[in-house]
Amino acid sequence: MHTSSTTDALRRRVGIMGGTFDPIHIGHLILGESAWQQFSLEKVLFMPSGNPPHKKIRDGASNEQRVEMVRLAIASNPHFALSLEEMHEEGYVYTKETLRRLRAQHPDTDYYFIMGADSLLTFDSWKGPQEICDQCILTAAVRDSMDLASLDLKIGQLKEKYHADIRKLESPNLDISSHNIRSWRKEGRSIRYYVPDAVVDYILNEGIYVEL
Ligand code: ATP
Ligand code: MG
Repeated sequence: MHTSSTTDALRRRVGIMGGTFDPIHIGHLILGESAWQQFSLEKVLFMPSGNPPHKKIRDGASNEQRVEMVRLAIASNPHFALSLEEMHEEGYVYTKETLRRLRAQHPDTDYYFIMGADSLLTFDSWKGPQEICDQCILTAAVRDSMDLASLDLKIGQLKEKYHADIRKLESPNLDISSHNIRSWRKEGRSIRYYVPDAVVDYILNEGIYVEL
């Protein structure tokens, strides 16, 4: 994305943390906080994506439950906000369209799209990667077994291919995923400290992820 350097200082910076959040966990929260700090963001929008019925994970949480867990998880952080921009029941949600809508509504804002390395690796197969790169700054952090050199390589490739503005996000590599949490729950293992207390309570009260 190209912005004029003379006006950069006047522009607002907002992060977008997209995901399924089934459930939200500390990996997501720490990623958002790291991006907020590193890029001096005004706020980070947590944007759970709506699952069309055929895409829903079997025995995953409902759209309403995923939204509620995000709400509970970010409640104590004044620069985190919930956005329902991608929460549709019908059809697929495309990042390029979300960005187009947001930018039309907020022409004074630069958007920083926050993700883990696994998302960056599949970026070419997203709908409209060029349009996404034209409309936001991508920020990616290492995740899982991906080392920094591989992340740098991928960033270099995408920069060349799409003339993208991609920044490496310096965030600790936390070995945690929603998938792990769902399976631990199923096995009756504790998920405490991997998700905020209020979310643990919510999962237990609602009986989510017990059967797969
Ligand atoms: P699942 O296991 O169901 O795929 P997930 O833990 O990968 O869930 P998502 O909702 O798919 O969570 O992820 C949303 C975004 O957060 C993605 O860009 C993903 O790369 C990033 N992310 C999730 N967990 C981590 C983590 N532990 N470290 C870095 N990035 C993460
Ligand atoms: Mg994932």
